[in-house]
Amino acid sequence: MNIPLVDLRAGYFPLKEEILAGMAEALDGMQLFLGKNVQQFEKDFAQFCGVNHAIGVSSGTDAIELILRAVGIGPGDEVITVSHTFIATIEAILLCGARPVFVDITPDTCLMDVEQIESKINPRTKAILPVHLYGQTADMLSISTIAKRHGLWVFEDACQAHGALYQGSAAGGLGDAGAFSFYFTKNLGAYGEGGIITTNNEEIARKARMLRDHGSSKKYIHELLGKNARLDELQAVVLRARLPHLNEWNNLRREHATVYNYLLKESAVRLPKESNGNKHVYHLYVIQTTDRDALQAFLKDQGVGTGIHYPVPAHLQPALADLGYKPGDLPVTEEVTMKILSLPMYPELSNEQIVYIADQIIAYEGYKEPAFVG
Ligand SMILES: *Cc1c(COP(=O)(O)O)cnc(C)c1O
Repeated sequence: MNIPLVDLRAGYFPLKEEILAGMAEALDGMQLFLGKNVQQFEKDFAQFCGVNHAIGVSSGTDAIELILRAVGIGPGDEVITVSHTFIATIEAILLCGARPVFVDITPDTCLMDVEQIESKINPRTKAILPVHLYGQTADMLSISTIAKRHGLWVFEDACQAHGALYQGSAAGGLGDAGAFSFYFTKNLGAYGEGGIITTNNEEIARKARMLRDHGSSKKYIHELLGKNARLDELQAVVLRARLPHLNEWNNLRREHATVYNYLLKESAVRLPKESNGNKHVYHLYVIQTTDRDALQAFLKDQGVGTGIHYPVPAHLQPALADLGYKPGDLPVTEEVTMKILSLPMYPELSNEQIVYIADQIIAYEGYKEPAFVG
């Protein structure tokens, strides 16, 4: 059996006609610049997240950068975040001239260890930027409490958490602003690049709206120094067609996670932990094992695609060497990095496929056992 890590075509075909018709309409009208599709999608996505404003941008990276710039974070400022994330979180902080300051993660959820935040706060600290990695929200109540005590902003990197809930409230509405990516593999993906900023803060919304369009709200009058970071109209067509299915797709991902958990409960691998009160939307289903590389190679031989998210933590990336971090600085992040393995996860995955994958993992463990016995 051949099972890829993600199967994007399976999600495309059922909506193909609707998407192509929407694109044809936009093209026939040559409505390609912040038109009705972007405007309607912004309204729909704001409602989906339970916030007052959503501002479509060209990527998740731009969404984070523009949020930080909208509140004036720049050179001399520090933003507390995690190293166990996709590099874009850190790039966005550096692109606006600020410095990322890393805290470690907790080993079971792979999310920001809130116990470590306060020791990193100093007069230069301006914001806390948790990452809702793999589809589960960070401990937002603790983070907000700390932020309030020290007068800091809280921004969510929700690029992997479309539709995730924290104590019943949606990701993107849990801090001062949230950033989402519509990269094609995300739970809600476009068929090109895209992202969005969500917020209840009028001023962040107003500034972000200008910053994404060359700092302008009136043609050729540039109030702020912005950039070109607009959401594309054709991508908004795709997103409008797909958003109504997002909850149903997330629920399917959760069902698949339940089946994996059940089938692997006797196995030696560590299963992903869902914290109480969270709706985890399993952008990725990530197990942990000390034997990761060998298991990954074995699964590949059995036709099972897997991934490592991410193999090198941000603080040890060559491009970030100037920050001065070294191996050993974030021990939990570094240990988790050696153990994590993402198994196939997408809404259209079948139970038969999950049974096959779990069987391979169990077979691998059984096959390995004699070596331990000697
Ligand atoms: C995908 C992703 C981003 C960046 O989104 P792009 O749209 O690719 O720029 C940022 N943070 C995290 C955690 C992501 O997974």
